[in-house]
Amino acid sequence: MNYYSTNNQAPIADLHKAVVKGLAEDRGLYMPEKINKLPKEFFDNIEKMSFQEIAYTVASAFFGEDVDPDALHDIVYDTLQFDCPVVNVKDNIYTLELFHGPTLAFKDVGARFMARLLQYFIKQENNHKEVNVLVATSGDTGSAVANGFLGVDGIHVYVLYPKGKVSPIQECQFTTLGKNITAIEVDGVFDDCQALVKNAFMDAELNEHMKLTSANSINVARFLPQAFYYFNAYARMKEQGKADNLVMCVPSGNFGNICAALFGHEMGLPIKRFIAANNANDIFYNYLQTGKYEPKPSKQTLANAMDVGDPSNFARIYDLYGKSHAKITSLISGATYSDEQIKATMRECHKDSGYILDPHGACGYQALKDGLQAGEVGVFCETAHPAKFKEKVDDILGIDVAIPERLAAFMRGEKQSVAMTKNFADFKAYLMKR
Ligand SMILES: *Cc1c(COP(=O)(O)O)cnc(C)c1O
Repeated sequence: MNYYSTNNQAPIADLHKAVVKGLAEDRGLYMPEKINKLPKEFFDNIEKMSFQEIAYTVASAFFGEDVDPDALHDIVYDTLQFDCPVVNVKDNIYTLELFHGPTLAFKDVGARFMARLLQYFIKQENNHKEVNVLVATSGDTGSAVANGFLGVDGIHVYVLYPKGKVSPIQECQFTTLGKNITAIEVDGVFDDCQALVKNAFMDAELNEHMKLTSANSINVARFLPQAFYYFNAYARMKEQGKADNLVMCVPSGNFGNICAALFGHEMGLPIKRFIAANNANDIFYNYLQTGKYEPKPSKQTLANAMDVGDPSNFARIYDLYGKSHAKITSLISGATYSDEQIKATMRECHKDSGYILDPHGACGYQALKDGLQAGEVGVFCETAHPAKFKEKVDDILGIDVAIPERLAAFMRGEKQSVAMTKNFADFKAYLMKR
């Protein structure tokens, strides 16, 4: 399969190049030249298949031309060592729980899949040097990427995070791992971390010294595997006889997760329509209303993993539908919620159904409550376990959310990090010695 850039000014790439490079030369995002439809028999029998079996079929349609079938099978099964159930919350509203992975967030699937696919490709390179993944994080991405890449041979990960600005639980998830993961505690804010990473990618001498790459959701190997979730949602709903007139609602920030769902739809997945649920960062919502895409600085909210003012995967959605506002609005609608609304939703849902929403999932639940029409069945993604946002959830609901053992285990580990200033010269000098 060939991949072109959404900016159309870069050479066509194969999957190997698209995964190793991440971003195209013209700073566009890679898109597959075609999207293979899955056969009718697959959908007819999907409810009899496990999450892993479904995912392998979907992965083969995307990556089967470029990856050996046995290797791809191993990558999928190594990535999906957990379930992704649908749970009824209230009436015709269901949730797809995407938080049963190692760090209790949906990004685990994309991060692990990318780590293993990257490893597969670098092993094929003649003089294969160790690859160094640099990732700046305000919390969630760092933990998913660090755990996804943990113990993967031939790859070293540097997680840069702002000192004192990530939650204690999140910090433990990438500072206690050791092995091929190095946490770098930057005396600055998130933007300083991101600037250090960007400068490193642009520094010729450093790139001569070591092989560098990034692992954010612009990478095709990170965002596409999230399509597995939506096929599984359909299968599990079909099992219950509830798969007609399905509306899928995705709490969105950088729009990688919903973009993967839309790719699934292009492959034939029978979802009637989609809702992108936003917090107060309403750039996509406004685009749907006006046809104008106007990025803004991000606003800080309770659902902080969705605080994005210029969602990078918008470029992919725009390209997928031929830049047609009419096509996009015929399939996708939007919703936007303030922190006050998020809190009210969490309280109301807990009182009505006993289900504990995290602030991100709350946007999804409310968007279905507000937008579902007669005869439709809605599924929203719960993108993180509420215990990951324990301080907020406890405070809003007046409860004491139990911390799952998997999360507690991180907190018992020994924290190790490298102290760093926000000056690029210091960061470069550190990397040049590695
Ligand atoms: C990353 C994240 C999101 C947003 O996903 P996108 O793919 O960036 O749209 C939503 N909720 C949680 C908990 C996340 O970590």
